[in-house]
Amino acid sequence: MEINEKELTITVITSKLIRNYIPEIKRIFFGGKIPSNVSVNLTDKCNQSCVYCEIGKNCLSQNSDLLTKDDLFWIITQMAEFRIKKLSMCGGEPFLFSGIIDVVEFAWKNNVFCNITSNGMTIHKLNDNEFHTLKKCKTIVNISVDSFNEEIQIQTRGNDSALKNALKSIQKLQENNIPVIILSVISKYNYHDLYKSLIHAHSLKITNVLYQPVIKYSNFPNISVIKNKQELNVSTDQFDILFRELQKIYLFERKHKINTNIYRLLPWIESYINIIPDKKNTFFFHKVLPKFYCREIFTVIEINYYGGIQPCGLIQAEKSIKDNKSIDLLTQWENATEKLKADLKSFNYPIYCNGCCHKFSRNMIASAFQYPFANRKILITIFISIFNRLLSIILKKLYIKEYESRSHYRC
Ligand code: SF4
Ligand code: SF4
Repeated sequence: MEINEKELTITVITSKLIRNYIPEIKRIFFGGKIPSNVSVNLTDKCNQSCVYCEIGKNCLSQNSDLLTKDDLFWIITQMAEFRIKKLSMCGGEPFLFSGIIDVVEFAWKNNVFCNITSNGMTIHKLNDNEFHTLKKCKTIVNISVDSFNEEIQIQTRGNDSALKNALKSIQKLQENNIPVIILSVISKYNYHDLYKSLIHAHSLKITNVLYQPVIKYSNFPNISVIKNKQELNVSTDQFDILFRELQKIYLFERKHKINTNIYRLLPWIESYINIIPDKKNTFFFHKVLPKFYCREIFTVIEINYYGGIQPCGLIQAEKSIKDNKSIDLLTQWENATEKLKADLKSFNYPIYCNGCCHKFSRNMIASAFQYPFANRKILITIFISIFNRLLSIILKKLYIKEYESRSHYRC
C-alpha cells in the first residue's frame, strides 16, 4: 500500500481540532467543566526496560487487579455520556493489553477517538484486520523513539531490538495510512544526537516529533521513583550542545515537512533541568511564569492500570473506578481532584509540580492567558512564537518542494 501523505496530514489536523482545540476553546470561552480527555494506563506490563522508567526498572509491586476490557468499556460509555471525545491509552506497553483493538472499535462506535502511545515492539505483528480497525477508527499512534541511532536507542530503551521493531511498526502503520507521531525523551544519552535523529525521522516521512526531558518524579505515582533519576537529564556542562541541537532542529523544521514542539520547549527547558526537585518552595516554572496555572487538572481524567482515578498524572490515586461504578465517572473525577484544585487555587503547589514537564508547555500557554498581566513577558514570547510558527507553516506550504529538492542535510 502506498503512503498517502496528504491524507495523513489531514487526519492529524482534523483529529487535533476535534480532540484538542475545539474542547479547549469551548472550555476557555464558555466555561465548560467537562474535561476533554481521558488518559488510561492500560497495563503495568512492558517489553522494554527504559532507563528512566519505574516499570522498566522493575520497581513494581505485585497487584493482580489490573484493568479489564469491561472496565474500559465502562469508561468509554461514561465518556460518551459526557461527550468526552479523546481517549489516550498508554502503559506499560498498551499493545500487551489483550483486547486493545476491541477497545478502539468500541470507542469509535461511541464517537470516542483513540491515541495510543506505544514502544512499537509488537505493532508490526498485528494482522490486516487489526490494522484496518485502527485506520477505520481514526487512531493516532505515538511511537517512543529516543534516537534513530541503534546504539543509543538500545541504551535508553534497554532492549536490543527496540529500534528494529519500532522501525518495522512505523513502516506498517504508514503503509496502512495510520498517522504516527514520534515521542522522544531528551536525556544525557541522546542530547547530542537529536538533530541527526530528526533528519532520520524526516527521511521516513514522519511529520511530527515531540520532545520532553526526563520527568523527575515517578511516572507511576504508586511506584517509588528510581534512584538518582535527576541525573539522567542533561547536565549543565552539556547545555551548549543541547541548545545547538535544538536550534538546528528549529531551523530545519521551518523549511521541511516536519513539526516539533521545540518552540514551546525552548523558554523553559533550562530552568526545568537546573532546578533541584525537592527544594522547598522553589519551582522551576517561576523562572518563566510569575503566576502558574495548571490546566491539566481541569482537562484530563487520569486513570491508572488498577483503575485508580488520580488527582493528576503525578499524584497517587486513592479510589478506583472498579469499586465505584454506581457513581458516574465525572463525579468520581471531581471528588478525586477537589483538594488539588483548591490547593492550586491558593498557589499551594505540590512538590510534584517541580518534576512535571510532560504537560508543561500547555500549562505555560494556559498560565499566560489565565494571568496575562503577571505573565506578560512570556505572553509576548508566546505570541511571537505562534506568529513565527504560522508564518513558517505558510512559507512551508508555498515553498516546500523547492526547499526539499535543494536541501543537503548537514548532520
Ligand atoms: S517508558 Fe514505556 S516502554 Fe519504556 S519501560 Fe516504561 S512503560 Fe515500557
Ligand atoms: S504535578 Fe502539578 S503541574 Fe503537574 S499536573 Fe499535577 S498539579 Fe499540574
